[in-house]
Amino acid sequence: MFDFLLNEEQKKIRDEARDLVKWVPRQMILDLDSDKIKFPKEFLQEAGKRNLLGSRYPKKWGGRGMDWVTTATVMEEIGTLGYIFACVFGVGAELVCDAIILHGSDFLKEKYVKPLLRGEIFAAECLTEPRGGSDFFGTTSTAEDKGDHFILNGQKRFIVGAEGADFFLVYAKTDPNAEPHKSLTCLVVDRCPGVDVKYLYGLMGCRGGGAGRIVFRDVKVPKENVVGQEHGAYAVFNTMMVPERLGTAAMTIGAARPALEIATRYSTRRKAFGKTINQFQGVSFQIAEASMLLDAARSLVFSTCKAVDSGESPNLIRKMVSETKKFVTESCQRVSHIAMQVMGGIGYTNVYPIERIFRDLRLASIWTGTNEVMSAIIANEYYKELMKTKRETRDYEADSESADAADEKIFE
Ligand SMILES: Cc1cc2nc3c(=O)[nH]c(=O)nc-3n(C[C@H](O)[C@H](O)[C@H](O)COP(=O)(O)OP(=O)(O)OC[C@H]3O[C@@H](n4cnc5c(N)ncnc54)[C@H](O)[C@@H]3O)c2cc1C
Repeated sequence: MFDFLLNEEQKKIRDEARDLVKWVPRQMILDLDSDKIKFPKEFLQEAGKRNLLGSRYPKKWGGRGMDWVTTATVMEEIGTLGYIFACVFGVGAELVCDAIILHGSDFLKEKYVKPLLRGEIFAAECLTEPRGGSDFFGTTSTAEDKGDHFILNGQKRFIVGAEGADFFLVYAKTDPNAEPHKSLTCLVVDRCPGVDVKYLYGLMGCRGGGAGRIVFRDVKVPKENVVGQEHGAYAVFNTMMVPERLGTAAMTIGAARPALEIATRYSTRRKAFGKTINQFQGVSFQIAEASMLLDAARSLVFSTCKAVDSGESPNLIRKMVSETKKFVTESCQRVSHIAMQVMGGIGYTNVYPIERIFRDLRLASIWTGTNEVMSAIIANEYYKELMKTKRETRDYEADSESADAADEKIFE
């Protein structure tokens, strides 16, 4: 993180996050990657004990009353352990709890948020279905209204933390006749009979986070477990996309940072043609590019955090968050690619962790909304922003010699 942008309290939490990172045993990292650990409960328990989960939430609910800049600072540090540590850290405390804090009742905050932030219980977020993830409002899981409760049926897949979760945040169709945006309800669902976590996937990277397919069969969900309004999941989804994508961006920087550090140090020791390879511009310019990309990525994360913290318009936030997620994830994938290239053949082996970082980071542009979906949002918001607002700046189009050539300005 950029120290000069942090106040003393933010630096203190950043240092606490660094201490947690140092606490993690090397073997835990290796055991996650080899799927020997299916879900790193001990890590989340330790994070909870240290009061590092959900730092932006009010103290009343177990947070520290901090802001998005703090969250991003913490997420970057956690990401340095490996992408999956930040995934499990973020999914429960930063996504599921965000939805409950912003939209849920005090009953739900007391019952689920407080113990989760203490590291005593765990949660997973269930949006994606076998049918598809991008077309979220096409959700086919159903929750049938039975008066004081719903009966939930359906399937979700690729759910990080499914293996370890005590409860699930589930989006399901509650009004089959309404238009898609008014048809879904967001529910807290306990792990109970009828909730079946099917299997772990053979993942390319990000292993050990308990990613599973979940089948819900006639699961009774009391109405007090509705997050927000009945059929009002659209509002919950909209605010959740901020931590989904901004949190993802911040942690992605952390996951890429060690790759650049390792490759840069390596380049000062490895020799070829009688010189250390950092003396070849072909190498040092790649390091320069990676350093620039990471700093640019972090700058964007910081600006977007500031926009969210200062309550900018939902449209601006949606655009900035999407731009940040796309730019940061693609930049960081490039950083891990550069790091491997600088290391030569040894970078492709498990002698160094670059190959794991490279595999892990491939997820970044796919999950929490693919980068194509980010482009669709950015395009939509920018067109709206430019075309709908009254022009307040100079008319740049007129600043050309033949600007009045009306016969040449034919558009169809
Ligand atoms: C390891 C892992 C962990 C995950 N964790 C979770 C989790 O915890 N919870 C959860 O709910 N989900 C999770 N996901 C799911 C993830 O968010 C989805 O995979 C993602 O949203 C894409 O959905 P999909 O895989 O169904 O692809 P699809 O939606 O089928 O998309 C396939 C391709 O089509 C493109 N596409 C689709 N629509 C458009 C469009 N309108 N414009 C342009 N291109 C388009 C996509 O960009 C993509 O390239 C996880 C996935 C993985 C792999």
